[in-house]
Amino acid sequence: MKEFTLDILPLHEWLDFDACLPCLPDRQAARQVHPLIISGPCSAESREQVLKTAHALAETKAVKIFRAGLWKPRTRPDSFEGVGAAGLAWMKQVKKETGLLTCVEVATPEHVELSVTNNIDILWIGARTTVNPFSVQEIAEALKGIDIPVMVKNPVNPDIGLWLGALERINHAGIRKIIAIHRGFYTYNSKPYRNSPIWEIPIELMRLCPELPVICDPSHITGNYLLLESVSQKAMDLEMDGLMIETHVNPQKALSDSGQQITPAELKELISKLVIRNHYPENSGFRDMLEQLRSEIDVIDAELIHLLSKRMHLVEQIGNYKKENNITILQIKRWNKVVRESLELGENLGLNKEFLVKLLRVIHEESIQKQTEIFNK
Ligand code: PEP
Ligand code: MN
Repeated sequence: MKEFTLDILPLHEWLDFDACLPCLPDRQAARQVHPLIISGPCSAESREQVLKTAHALAETKAVKIFRAGLWKPRTRPDSFEGVGAAGLAWMKQVKKETGLLTCVEVATPEHVELSVTNNIDILWIGARTTVNPFSVQEIAEALKGIDIPVMVKNPVNPDIGLWLGALERINHAGIRKIIAIHRGFYTYNSKPYRNSPIWEIPIELMRLCPELPVICDPSHITGNYLLLESVSQKAMDLEMDGLMIETHVNPQKALSDSGQQITPAELKELISKLVIRNHYPENSGFRDMLEQLRSEIDVIDAELIHLLSKRMHLVEQIGNYKKENNITILQIKRWNKVVRESLELGENLGLNKEFLVKLLRVIHEESIQKQTEIFNK
């Protein structure tokens, strides 16, 4: 894969969210850890709904940025498609009356222009737009010469390349204030969620670009207000920088995403329950032990890699032999035996069966791939 680099400004250099979140339990507040909280309704529906929600959120003192969708990308055409540009004046009023920063979703150059001229503070690109490089490029062109932060949601499908590409396009347009939003991925069966979190994808993004702020949107991952807390906690335990959670003064009456929205009071409660853990252990005895155990793991990882390399050499030898003797690659009986015996051994050693099945599968796939290459030479 082509190298991935972004030229971005660290979050704390352009967004001041240093004030402790008073609704965090004391222990966390004392350690000055503050996830960035973005909240507001899925859709702006009326001036009253927007302002009531915003005022209630401002009162929680936990929220820094107010979100509301004005142009809604709906899957089916007969759903509520947002109030459009009419909502911009409501967002202005939110900013003036509450001091919250405002953000909206943009999907076209026209949305960008309208939002910027109406002093929206931050823009976000939605999952259905990130999938389309043409649309992202058009938005990027519209952003040239404008200094506004942009948040990029992951694409609907679990393709990290599209996410990286969208981030690069926005960055190449000169935008250095960028946040990635993890909102889960459509998979044929995402149960119990609306969108599968597939945490490996945002983790890979964080590995590729450690300075990029990544926040989690548990609302669109879960699609269900009952599951928000556990997904939010997981995001915090993976050291994500914040959360975007949909709130509505009357979630049952919401015109879009009703089942996943909560009230501002429920948001406050949810945040107060989150455990924000430390990055570094404070206790030096524990720190030493952690270092010690990690160095043992490093040794084992190196051994695993050596063993895998040895295994692949044997696979190649066998591949050459099979080719010379005109023998098939896959011999299901032999493979069955390997799986059966490995599972038996693994289970006796306390390894999880599902994990082992997955592991054996990737090793086997690679082995077949190696022998196929030899056959095709
Ligand atoms: C939204 O944030 O309301 C939205 C439409 O999200 P997504 O692009 O993640 O579906
Ligand atoms: Mn929504």
